[in-house]
Amino acid sequence: MALEAGLYIVATPIGNLADITSRAVDTLGAADLIAAEDTRHSKKLLQHLGINTRLVALHEHNERTASAGLIETILQGKSIALVSDAGTPLLSDPGYYLVRSAREAGVRVIPVPGVSAAICALSAAGLPTDRFVFEGFLPARQTARRHRLEQLGSETRTLIVYESSHRIVDSLQDMLAIFGGEREAVVARELTKTFETIRDDNLAGLVAWLTSDSYQQKGEFVVLVRGDQLPENNPLTTEAEHVLRCLLEELSVKQASKLASKITGVNKRLLYDRAVELKK
Ligand code: SAM
Repeated sequence: MALEAGLYIVATPIGNLADITSRAVDTLGAADLIAAEDTRHSKKLLQHLGINTRLVALHEHNERTASAGLIETILQGKSIALVSDAGTPLLSDPGYYLVRSAREAGVRVIPVPGVSAAICALSAAGLPTDRFVFEGFLPARQTARRHRLEQLGSETRTLIVYESSHRIVDSLQDMLAIFGGEREAVVARELTKTFETIRDDNLAGLVAWLTSDSYQQKGEFVVLVRGDQLPENNPLTTEAEHVLRCLLEELSVKQASKLASKITGVNKRLLYDRAVELKK
């Protein structure tokens, strides 16, 4: 298969090697060059697929310096495939700078889609999928993490975050402290691998489960949290509710409802009543 010149963004498996698409295999085999986050890691996948396309490194430390050369190569008529260690490049992985620069240079960027842990987890979690937010990794330090979670406290869409084995317990404990123990959530661990586990419970139940079984703390994780649910009789729009809650973190009921009304155009009285309720 001959490839047109361009930058091909190729998704690779997140565990189960059978999850690679046949188009991804064809593209990796036909590309002039593969830019990989970790060449040793990707070499193993290529060996498994019987592909010997030349590999070059493109990771967070050299992306800015290496991108210009790769774009120049494509402008000379070559095809380059970008892969990361697992899943879809750019999603909590390198490639953003390269793709942006390629598009600015008028280079064609072609997605070769496949698996991503976030969507894989969402598809099986049993939480609302009509609207969701992908937060990538939460900050590693607790103060920053808690601050970010506080900002997400009134988010009504399903929240998806990536987490490592080192921080899964701490992160879930912070979610429990900030969202409350009753909030529904799902821990999706080792997706597509032998010990795949998808556990749904409320945050209190998930923390109890994880802390009582250190075996379950190993591996790779996606955590999904159900969005905050507005009370059924709440007359506010999601946006007005969100604005009001943010302002209430810093201001009095009166100031917050007045400002929220200015921002959203929603009736001040409605906002005031809701603010009183929220402050209780
Ligand atoms: N680009 C990848 C994607 O499309 O999903 C994500 C790369 S990011 C550096 C790695 C994180 O993704 C892991 O720490 C974990 O949170 C999540 N992840 C990757 N593979 C996973 C798997 N098999 N099961 C659960 N989470 C996974």
